[in-house]
Amino acid sequence: MPRKNYGDVDAIRKKMADAKGGRMTDPNEFRPPQVKEGESFKFRFFILPPFEAGEKCADGEFTQTSELFYVQNGSHWINNKPYPCPRIHNDEECPMCSLGFELMGETQDKKMRSQIARQYLPQQKYAMNIYFPNDKANPEDLRGTVKWFNPGQSIYNKMEACIMNDDEGDPADPQAYGIFYDPYESYLFQLVVGFKGGYRNYDESKFLASVGKRPIAAKDKKPLESRIDEILAQRHDLFTKFDEPDTDKLASLVKSMTNGDGDGDDDGFDDDDDSVDESVKADDDVVIEDEEDATEDAEDAVEEEPKAKTKEKKKAKEEPKEEPEETVAEDDSSDDSDGSDGGEDDDELASLMAQLGEDD
Ligand SMILES: [Zn+2]
Repeated sequence: MPRKNYGDVDAIRKKMADAKGGRMTDPNEFRPPQVKEGESFKFRFFILPPFEAGEKCADGEFTQTSELFYVQNGSHWINNKPYPCPRIHNDEECPMCSLGFELMGETQDKKMRSQIARQYLPQQKYAMNIYFPNDKANPEDLRGTVKWFNPGQSIYNKMEACIMNDDEGDPADPQAYGIFYDPYESYLFQLVVGFKGGYRNYDESKFLASVGKRPIAAKDKKPLESRIDEILAQRHDLFTKFDEPDTDKLASLVKSMTNGDGDGDDDGFDDDDDSVDESVKADDDVVIEDEEDATEDAEDAVEEEPKAKTKEKKKAKEEPKEEPEETVAEDDSSDDSDGSDGGEDDDELASLMAQLGEDD
């Protein structure tokens, strides 16, 4: 008998993760680190443009065309398993969301409504390709790499605001405006991961408008065309990162919940019992770092040599290390076994409320 090949470790990992009920941690996904009170982390990256089916990418060729720079996604989490939402993925009716909206319609109590939203509605996310330039704000192992990033509403809002803005401001106070993902004229995005009200917070994140639009790779301020092509070819096929929604499965889950044992105790959801912090939108004044400093740093970022990077070099340290559990002290379900990214973002509620058209 010929010797069998057991070598496809990626496939096995995925199967095992599926069996366990979690999602594989994709080494190509950039996940912001956990933070504690008083801590904050800063990263700088360029957002890469939309892609066309057949274009070269890190996974071979893109399987689909993305019209926008992001791919919208979101999952219902039931018994620690993600169920992609047909409403968010395909703009189709979703039985689980319908149930959530129906239950929310039955109460006017704001806290109740947000709890229902949290339990029944998925958080809307926006997957995009990003490129970390050789900037000293970035950890060394990220520099020069293309990752995909799946932020929630609050970061997305900053990007949307840039696209919607026509006003470049004045030289003393430049504003980010228009298309920010043209690799020849791109803004550097500065992600600031802070901590507020018990959650990760991204309020201080922004495009570095003061540095202006620039090529994502340049030498003496001139775009490095071949390096730009190389970077674009390392983008990830975002559509393959998510399973297709299974509306029938969601419908049967809804059915079992609504016809269940009737006492409402076992509704199929995990009781994660984290009460929604109503104060997440409190407007603290934050000291923005010295813009000149930022400009200087960002200048470094673009004086980038087209170094021959060994793509295959594995970077064990890329993913944030296991974080102490006290990061999200009141949440004992944050052991990451559900495949979500452990810590909670305060934009979760913002996202849900946005879906409901409640923006207060
Ligand atoms: Zn849904």
